[in-house]
Amino acid sequence: MLNIVIFGAPGSGKGTQSKLIIEKYGLHHISTGDILRQEIEQKTALGLIAEEYIAQGHLVPDQLIIDMMADILDRYPSAKGYIFDGFPRTLSQGEALDTMLSERNLAITAVLRLQVNEKLLIDRMLKRKEELGRSDDNLETIQNRLHVYKTQTDSLSEYYKKKGKLFKVEGDGLVDDVFEHITEVINLLSV
Ligand code: AMP
Repeated sequence: MLNIVIFGAPGSGKGTQSKLIIEKYGLHHISTGDILRQEIEQKTALGLIAEEYIAQGHLVPDQLIIDMMADILDRYPSAKGYIFDGFPRTLSQGEALDTMLSERNLAITAVLRLQVNEKLLIDRMLKRKEELGRSDDNLETIQNRLHVYKTQTDSLSEYYKKKGKLFKVEGDGLVDDVFEHITEVINLLSV
């Protein structure tokens, strides 16, 4: 089973590249951001709590996210593999994911870290606001999200580096070129 974490700052192309990975490798996509946005739309208890955090660009508390994830993993027992997009975002989420997977005799195969310069991240998110109208893609919230990434999420890549699972991918280029780098890494893994 191929279980991939797609890792990187907001706007680094995780969602876009995930879609391409799913098409090529038939993995099941789990995007915590997409799931939370659905919960908000459906006005569930979790959605009502998450809404405030998301609007401010802060992380939704770990335990809520971890419980949500455990529930989702059990919904697709026959998946060929997972792509985790936007999760984990803290060390405790990373540790919880490892525990959840090992309880199911699974493990993370690789973490793909998309590297994109900050100016481009901001430009991409502002453009996405025009196209998709995501309310957290405004300049103030974007700056909070980038700060949260630097202070709470980025260091998680060390955790995976120590396990020998971290692969860096240049994410500044065209979508297809970035995807080509990703497939080179994944193809090496699957051999
Ligand atoms: P994303 O679509 O991945 O950029 O996520 C949008 C927002 O959802 C983030 O800014 C957080 O507020 C929240 N969120 C998504 N995934 C997580 C997570 N793994 N942990 C905490 N908050 C999250």
